[in-house]
Amino acid sequence: MPELPETETIARALDELVRDSVITAVAIPRPNVLREHSADEFGRRLREVAITRCWRRAKCIVLDLSTGDRLVVTPRFTGGLFVARRDAAPEPPPSNPDYTCLALTLSDGRTLRYRDVRRLGTVALMDPARFAAWTAGIGPEPLDPDLTAPLFSGFIRVSRRAIKTVLMDQRRLAGVGNIYANESLWAARIAPTRAAARVTRAEAATLLAELQRLLAASIAVGGTTFRDYRDPLGNRGGFAAQLQVYGREGEPCPRCGVPLSGHHKLEGRATVWCRGCQR
Ligand SMILES: [Zn+2]
Repeated sequence: MPELPETETIARALDELVRDSVITAVAIPRPNVLREHSADEFGRRLREVAITRCWRRAKCIVLDLSTGDRLVVTPRFTGGLFVARRDAAPEPPPSNPDYTCLALTLSDGRTLRYRDVRRLGTVALMDPARFAAWTAGIGPEPLDPDLTAPLFSGFIRVSRRAIKTVLMDQRRLAGVGNIYANESLWAARIAPTRAAARVTRAEAATLLAELQRLLAASIAVGGTTFRDYRDPLGNRGGFAAQLQVYGREGEPCPRCGVPLSGHHKLEGRATVWCRGCQR
């Protein structure tokens, strides 16, 4: 599932590929991907509208439109946005089976497609008031310079839930999912099941610094492709080779050599950690 670095990679690539493009036609082969509008109204509000900017909020890709509306795409597990380069040869017809849920024809003849094999992702069209309410319900961005260590420490240490669960709670902190929660807790030597309230201020500062370092390093190589994630041109991310614990249960800890432990006790997600050096 794309987390912050993967979504950031998608948004940056998409901004370069489709900024200032005008949508000339809208096809919605699988209308159940839409949230908040019927297919008819969705199509009517997108036709002859320009995409003015693509960016990321949490694990969502946001397309700003010239009407003031925004398109918010949540890829979840298998969703992806794909479009050819501006100078590319005409696109071949879609492969069979074609998992396109939404296809936006652009004025230069290219098509921006949202494909989703398992169809768990969503596409929502939001007016400015709806968007403001949506974004207000999500926590701060971990790479925002305004998120200082004391602020971070303050809002995680009020919870008695497991620190890993708190890190992944989008209402508290945006964009962190299972991969970067596991990795940052290992880097900061904190056991994933420890109550967030029992993380010290110094440990919280280390955790934020490690999380920021990992997210930035992953963005620099296009994110982590474990299974399905691809960028808008179909490329895989390069960060999987740098993962220290995620997907490595049973292997020796890279820091102390104790075999890495794994369980699914926290929100049913795979937790991998080291009993030897995480407390
Ligand atoms: Zn260890």
